[in-house]
Amino acid sequence: MTTLTTPEGEPPAATDGEAFLSVRDLEVHFATEDGTVKAVDGLSFDLMRGRTLGIVGESGSGKSVTNLAVLGLHDPRNTTVRGSVRLAGQELTGAPERTLERLRGNTMAMIFQDSLTALSPYYTVGRQIAEPYRKHTGATRRQARQRAVEMLAKVGIPNPGRRVDDYPHQFSGGMRQRVMIAMALVCNPDLLIADEPTTALDVTVQAQILDLLGELQQEYGSAIVLITHDLGVVANTADELLVMYAGRAVERGTVREVLSSPRHPYTWGLLDSMPRLSTPVDQSLRPIPGAPPSLLATPAGCPFHPRCAYTGQVEGDRCATERPALAAGRAAACHLDAHAQATLRRTTR
Ligand code: SF4
Repeated sequence: MTTLTTPEGEPPAATDGEAFLSVRDLEVHFATEDGTVKAVDGLSFDLMRGRTLGIVGESGSGKSVTNLAVLGLHDPRNTTVRGSVRLAGQELTGAPERTLERLRGNTMAMIFQDSLTALSPYYTVGRQIAEPYRKHTGATRRQARQRAVEMLAKVGIPNPGRRVDDYPHQFSGGMRQRVMIAMALVCNPDLLIADEPTTALDVTVQAQILDLLGELQQEYGSAIVLITHDLGVVANTADELLVMYAGRAVERGTVREVLSSPRHPYTWGLLDSMPRLSTPVDQSLRPIPGAPPSLLATPAGCPFHPRCAYTGQVEGDRCATERPALAAGRAAACHLDAHAQATLRRTTR
């Protein structure tokens, strides 16, 4: 396991019980010709070592933007990042680029959705796995190549000693995704961010990749952030769940809590729109009506209110005028009272 070092070379000490990754009041705003896009607008969450946090929501909910901010990958020329991102106690927001560069690929790494885009077609997979290892550890070419072979074996690529010299296009989609996992894990990162890592894969390969991530997490003890639009993916993989809508967290809890007793109407909509084994074949899925709001002009009050079927259950016009807060711990950002959150979905399905 690598240790995180500060710019001065001192290992930052995470105190007992302190979250390994702590995000507070994160805002990521993009300046565009049409105005300011509030892609993330006041997001907070914690993640402990060895745990997996699933972040779910529709496209444009802010999931990927959040994690690019954690990695410090936004272009400062048109992006404003405010709030706090602390990794093992070290503040990353506003940290010098050379600090972030040293942490990326070493202490924190990312697996992207599209392996064809993320891997260079011009270099062998072995070279692409070995390069970050050499850069961060100072290993020789021979040692780095050996490490690449080891990593390919670890992620289940047959004949790794031979395939290390193949190019990305010589692998199937599932095998390329394994190569990308090998690349992300080559320096034993403490934080792994997986952005829709299985979306392009068929269900069998998807299950294999998720199992592999789980096994490697057991081995390395990494904290994992798993970004997905698919609640089915997090059901067997994540420990905690954060549901995002319009750049904000709307529900939080353990996976079991959120999936077995969801409290937010948006989470109800996500669950009702996905197929399950128990769904009768003649019963159609129910998509959430309407579309996510423009992040140039997020609706006042609860951002979900133009699509919500339950505004009539809340007194007055609070849904349209008052932004619901997300309390600490197990919570939903909704004006419905606790009884309504617990019972309404059951009575209206
Ligand atoms: Fe629906 Fe109102 Fe709750 Fe928002 S606050 S989810 S609009 S009931």
